[in-house]
Amino acid sequence: MLNPIIHSKLPSVGTTIFTTMSALAVKHNAINLGQGFPDFPMNSELQELVDQAMKDGYNQYVHMCGLPALREQLSQKVNEDYNANINPETQITITPGGTYAIYTAFTTILRPGDEVILFEPAYDSYIPNIEINGGVAVPVALEFPDYRINWQLVQEKITSKTKAIIINTPHNPTGKVLEESDIDALRALVKDTGIFIISDEVYEHLIFDNKPHLSLLRYPDLLERTFVCFSFGKVYHCTGWKLGYCIAPEPLMKEFRKVHQFNCFTCNSPVQVALSKFLQQKKEYKQLGFFLQQKRDYFQQLMQQTSFKALPSHGSYFQMYEYGDISTQTENEFAIRLTEEAGVTTIPVSAFYKTPTDNRVLRFCFAKKESTLEEAVERLVNYFG
Ligand code: PMP
Ligand code: GLN
Repeated sequence: MLNPIIHSKLPSVGTTIFTTMSALAVKHNAINLGQGFPDFPMNSELQELVDQAMKDGYNQYVHMCGLPALREQLSQKVNEDYNANINPETQITITPGGTYAIYTAFTTILRPGDEVILFEPAYDSYIPNIEINGGVAVPVALEFPDYRINWQLVQEKITSKTKAIIINTPHNPTGKVLEESDIDALRALVKDTGIFIISDEVYEHLIFDNKPHLSLLRYPDLLERTFVCFSFGKVYHCTGWKLGYCIAPEPLMKEFRKVHQFNCFTCNSPVQVALSKFLQQKKEYKQLGFFLQQKRDYFQQLMQQTSFKALPSHGSYFQMYEYGDISTQTENEFAIRLTEEAGVTTIPVSAFYKTPTDNRVLRFCFAKKESTLEEAVERLVNYFG
């Protein structure tokens, strides 16, 4: 008798590190500074707008590319923030989250054997997204401990098969942000090539120390070849809403939508109605960087009671800490031990590498209430004595 057998398209993939560590945190009743999500409440006015939208009857499918009023607001927003002239009808598609936008961009452009350059440590969805589309991931290591991009190394990785480069600023997990010199180097690299760019900008407003966010929407010459991916979850403290959007030039977006319409078709309607109204009234995302910078600083100050050493973070929810003075264990072993024995969960940065790498650094999420951060550090102090 014949039984169906799956020949896995992702044979080397297990469960994501975020799910694994969050489950371990629950099991050991640990404070979860691992997976990136806030533990403070989101804006209640925005919640009420969703409630109202449902009561007002916005419960059926909205336009396949997203609620027109929301796309219109986004077009105005990116014009104000990045001086970008974006047509809401042809260049913006609302997606169920940033990850989906990135996945769809890869599906749109990749054919078997195409190579994609990415920077390690890399957000963990990129490589499986590339491989399931038949692509080949070509990792370039960011240089420890500065995590700068060595553009010469990138140049050396370019071949006739290079189809795309994926960048991420502010960067998860390092908190690094790209500078103008990086944009210039990227421009020089892709000029007169057929290389696409996927720009993961989900942390666009979570940026600190007065650094500007260098969205690729600012550069029309680069935007010509770019899918720019965003997430509402990060901007409005509602990661569980899983809503985002992609902006791209019309010819790219046309193909993106062909994929999108037969995978998701359209996203949650009341949330889109609420966000379109909220965006019209409020610009609270403009304070987000300052709000999170205070949390980064508070956590860093608390961590001075321990022997963990902070690496710089200029954006995102995260800061990385070295623990080489405390233990010689691998990141994975040490992160498990901290959860099981100290009651604090983190993410081992080695999980963001395909190329085996262990610099003895852990990623901490500081997007938490002050009391949560205080208790976590108290537990570390008590455990290490
Ligand atoms: N990219 C990066 C770098 C992220 O950290 C996240 C966080 N989840 C995403 C994309 C995806 O965001 P979303 O939850 O909207 O899919
Ligand atoms: N982006 C989040 C992080 O880096 C997690 C999202 C997820 O669990 N997939 O922690």
